[in-house]
Amino acid sequence: MSHPRLASLALILVLSVPAFSQTSKTPRVLVIGTGGTISGGADPVTGQAKSLTAKDLVALVPTLKGKVEIEEEDFTNIGSSSMTPEIQFRLAERVADVFRTRADLSGVVITHGTDSLEETSFLLDLILTDPRPVVFAAAQRPPRVSDSDGPRNLENAVRTAIAPQARDKGVMVSLNEDLHAARYVTKSHAVAVEAFQSGKKGMLGTVDNGHVIFYNAPMNRVTIPARSVEPRVDLVRLVAGDQGKFINFAVETKSAGIVIEAFGRGNMPRPVADAVDRARKAGLVVVIVSRTAEGRVELPDSLLKTGVISGEDLDGLKARILLTVALGATKDISTIQNWFHLAGGVIDK
Ligand code: ASP
Repeated sequence: MSHPRLASLALILVLSVPAFSQTSKTPRVLVIGTGGTISGGADPVTGQAKSLTAKDLVALVPTLKGKVEIEEEDFTNIGSSSMTPEIQFRLAERVADVFRTRADLSGVVITHGTDSLEETSFLLDLILTDPRPVVFAAAQRPPRVSDSDGPRNLENAVRTAIAPQARDKGVMVSLNEDLHAARYVTKSHAVAVEAFQSGKKGMLGTVDNGHVIFYNAPMNRVTIPARSVEPRVDLVRLVAGDQGKFINFAVETKSAGIVIEAFGRGNMPRPVADAVDRARKAGLVVVIVSRTAEGRVELPDSLLKTGVISGEDLDGLKARILLTVALGATKDISTIQNWFHLAGGVIDK
């Protein structure tokens, strides 16, 4: 650089390129903490339970330093078996609000317990319309054990939240290096780190050594303009010898809706069919799904004519969340039925 022309060229370049500031170049993510095993720490000396904040959790992932600007927020700090539709909806509203006001964020990560993760993530998937990624991270093993899966799952969620290829993929769940669509993911094992699966529909992608890789795009995504949720929606699984007792109980206790996991293709014994009829006459919105893990129900016209809704191939938990959200938007049966058709990929009805 001793040549005078080269030196002045270098000076011009330095002056004309804007200062490389971290804030203008580095992607920014908001990590929202809600509790669960991923934040279920314990004091290493006293062994006393001590729940970690979102900031504590981010501190466990030093590998992200310098690559992502992370902000943290503690929304709540509960075990996810204590989640309710109201809390889930408030979380959805909070994320919608963040996206409305924060154009600078690349995406949002939510840490959550595994127990009701398949429900919360799907509820947010039904509400949120922003193309930016929302990725849930959870853990089967708490941070106090040396082989906790939490920090890796959180790191992968943050990497996904800043990946341009993760936009328009709906709400996702990051565990065990896998990325799942909220629409299909289920917790299929009580303790295993590979507990989260998407059945025959398959996972969306993976995060491998920091690379966010997609194999599939989520299909059959439905968004519902709900202003609230209807928490009085029950889920009943039919068993051999079922007399429809719990359906009758839902009517007596003034539920607004009920999802019934019926046999196979949607079959019900006579006493249950009578209870369903009573529930419809009492004004409950009734959705029938299958108690089998995969496959659609196909209901007879005689049943559909009474306003009973086909839940297509949604499992009971997802169908209950959809009905909870749908009833926060409308009471119109054909509109709700149409959302179930769309969520089931049935577009020729
Ligand atoms: N009890 C925990 C929960 O909050 C379980 C977990 O996070 O894995 O769901």
